[in-house]
Amino acid sequence: MKMSKKPLPISTICSWEKRIDPTPDYQRPPAWTRKQKQLLIDSILREYDIPKMYWRSVKRDDGVRYEVIDGQQRLRTIWEFKNGDFGLMRDADPVNDFPVAGLKYEDLDLDVSTIFDAYPVDVVIVDEAVQNDEEDEVRDMFLRLQNGTTLKAQEKRNAMPGQMRDFVKQISQHPFFENCKFSNSRYTFDHIAAQITCLELAGGPASVRDSDLNRMYDQNRKFETNSPQAKKVKRVLDYLLKAFPEKTPELERYNVITLYCLVSTLIEKYVHYDTEPLLAKWFIEFETNRRKQDELPEDDRDPKLIEYRRLTSYSTDGEESIRGRLEHLEKDFFLACPDIPTVDGIRVFTHGQRLAIFRRDDGRCQLRVKCDGAKLGWDDWHADHILPHSKGGKTTVSNGQVACIVCNTAKGNAEAQ
Ligand SMILES: [Zn+2]
Repeated sequence: MKMSKKPLPISTICSWEKRIDPTPDYQRPPAWTRKQKQLLIDSILREYDIPKMYWRSVKRDDGVRYEVIDGQQRLRTIWEFKNGDFGLMRDADPVNDFPVAGLKYEDLDLDVSTIFDAYPVDVVIVDEAVQNDEEDEVRDMFLRLQNGTTLKAQEKRNAMPGQMRDFVKQISQHPFFENCKFSNSRYTFDHIAAQITCLELAGGPASVRDSDLNRMYDQNRKFETNSPQAKKVKRVLDYLLKAFPEKTPELERYNVITLYCLVSTLIEKYVHYDTEPLLAKWFIEFETNRRKQDELPEDDRDPKLIEYRRLTSYSTDGEESIRGRLEHLEKDFFLACPDIPTVDGIRVFTHGQRLAIFRRDDGRCQLRVKCDGAKLGWDDWHADHILPHSKGGKTTVSNGQVACIVCNTAKGNAEAQ
């Protein structure tokens, strides 16, 4: 983790408002009182020292952005004062003989507002090329900076009474977690256990930020630890342990969440017995290939993987990011393992299979009965069984193909005759 410290004038900090994200995942919500805000501005106008801020630089498609590791309340206060959202204390002493009591930014004497604009805030910029495995390090730093008032969200949840707390505590002991890359410092196992439980309850990708987990604990105080959902969580973890029986450094936090979703669907909808080694082999290859791509010049990389990388480095606990990562993994998994069939009774291709079939066939009609291999959009194609389901054809990626609606109807009519 590289760091650089530089003093930034408040005028710069204000003009960068759009480049700064004051509430990344590890931050806590704004909580300052008016009085605290006024004290900060008062200190600035009197040119007292204020504590350093810590930002993390994040490279995005549209340029460098900053996530605030520490200093969120101070930053918001500065912006709010500049925008005229509040004035100074009614009993504030004059600054350099200029009255400031009760005044907002725009009412200050130019000499005083200049002190504000020019005030140098010490900002330590944590320069990471957004290495996700350093996420823990940044969180850790944040927690240490907060001293006695750390958020320690999972620790707080562990103190919330109820059966959800007990259930999460119980599954956090599952030996699978020991084989992941991360350690259990600061209750990381509990945190991930809570996240996967939240995903299971949601039935798929969902936002699993601290506020979502808190709500889950609160709303499931009577969670039945023998419910089908609870059993499912354990079954998925058992599957993952069988797939990854040893320490596997590729199992980072964001991977565990998406692998959980993938396996949860696999267990439910597919003939999945003895597929654990297939899944493990595919996953390690996927990660190896992805890491190789990272070493290539940007122009030579697979654009799909660049997008995937973006999703693994920003807001990784948000629904959109999880959904995007899962779709990418499902597509890749079913392309690598195209012969895994759905369980009896599911004859409609699943979303994951459809993603793989569409990608493999480049979105073109393979039937070519009425068309010439038309290029189709995601919303107007059918996944067709090559060997019809009625003749024992399985619902697998290898027995599926892209068909345009016209050709598919023609094929259906021909088979009916
Ligand atoms: Zn066609």
